[in-house]
Amino acid sequence: MKRAVFPGSFDPITLGHVDIINRGLLVFDEIIIAIGVNADKKYMFPLEDRKRFIEDSFKGESRIIVKTYTGLTAHFCKAEKAQFILRGLRNTSDFNYEQSIAQTNASIAGIESLFLVASPNVSNISSSIVRDVLRNNGDASSLVPLSVKK
Ligand code: ADP
Repeated sequence: MKRAVFPGSFDPITLGHVDIINRGLLVFDEIIIAIGVNADKKYMFPLEDRKRFIEDSFKGESRIIVKTYTGLTAHFCKAEKAQFILRGLRNTSDFNYEQSIAQTNASIAGIESLFLVASPNVSNISSSIVRDVLRNNGDASSLVPLSVKK
């Protein structure tokens, strides 16, 4: 049983995340979408909404589980018996950020990180861009799944 954790803030989930998750399902038997809770961070959407947007997007997909966690992602993976972390790469900035984190998770916990390169039609999307569009009364409907649009 190959179980992966897909960690993130998902503030909110975007079509970029959805793309990585759907493609991740081709590789893993089960994916835990793990919303990291950082008390020092300010979010646009409350945790319950972020969780519900994800659950609604994957309703009926029994191989997707949505959870929240605090603390180290590596510790959460161990507790959930997940051998892998799934992440998406949009560009070299993502790679530079992810490289040392992946190496650290491998060395402290023996967790392997697997990366999928963003599909070109969604590689421009980030949660922060979505928040920016929304804050300025723009139309973000082409960037997010139906559950967020509503
Ligand atoms: P974090 O705050 O941990 O970066 P995010 O919610 O922003 O969390 O992202 C979670 C994961 O989804 C990260 O691996 C990120 O690179 C990936 N991701 C975000 N947007 C996209 C996208 N448009 N295409 C591919 N991967 C993406």
